[in-house]
Amino acid sequence: MRLILLGPPGCGKGTQSQRLTEKYGIVQLSTGDMLRAAVKAGTPVGLEARDIMARGELVPDDMVVSIVAERIEQPDAKNGFILDGFPRTVPQAQALGRMLEQKGVKLDAAIELKVDEGILHQRIAKRVADMKARGETLRPDDNPETLEKRVHAYRVQTAPLVSYYKEHGLLRTVDGMAPIPEVSAAIDRFLTLEPEACRPAGRVPDARAAQRQDGQGKAAAKPAARARRKAINKGRGRG
Ligand code: AMP
Repeated sequence: MRLILLGPPGCGKGTQSQRLTEKYGIVQLSTGDMLRAAVKAGTPVGLEARDIMARGELVPDDMVVSIVAERIEQPDAKNGFILDGFPRTVPQAQALGRMLEQKGVKLDAAIELKVDEGILHQRIAKRVADMKARGETLRPDDNPETLEKRVHAYRVQTAPLVSYYKEHGLLRTVDGMAPIPEVSAAIDRFLTLEPEACRPAGRVPDARAAQRQDGQGKAAAKPAARARRKAINKGRGRG
């Protein structure tokens, strides 16, 4: 399974990614974590990224694209991955598309966690308070001023990816304001439904069209519909 999680800082991407890694046995690839590791290690990438990150701006596309290209080649990513914080611009999404095409694999979904911007400030404030209480080192960009810039960067540079993935029939939008277990259940419902069920109306996937043409459409659709009902009931706690 190959997934993207989309959403502004503080929307819960990290929390949901971690849960998905356990549930589906895939790795979480967070470009923010990779860049923070590079900064800590003082690599050339880290030295270039450090001030940009501290200002709450995005690092250059080519830098982050090459990091991801290298990372998805690692053996632990063969089984699938969840990209957390990448892509963040349309050129990054296009580069990812090319990378996956070269590997002969496809994205399963781009999951958008939709949240009210007002709540992000409260969430980050809570994250900072929790980290302080645990005696952990704070992220230099987890402060109100930089957060404002990060949210702005999301709105201007990353939000266009919602339309981009909608166009590609891959967007699944989840209410990120709901309690964490409900957000998780909503994501699971999308992932257990057959992908065709989530596509925008009016788009007939090729495989289904082909089945209909050779007369197998109805017979083939029945087990899929049963699986879909089962998944929905399971999500409602009935299965
Ligand atoms: P995050 O942990 O995802 O919030 O990322 C922290 C910071 O790392 C961001 O504010 C950016 O400066 C940088 N960063 C992470 N991922 C990307 C990306 N895909 N493109 C550009 N900059 C990124």
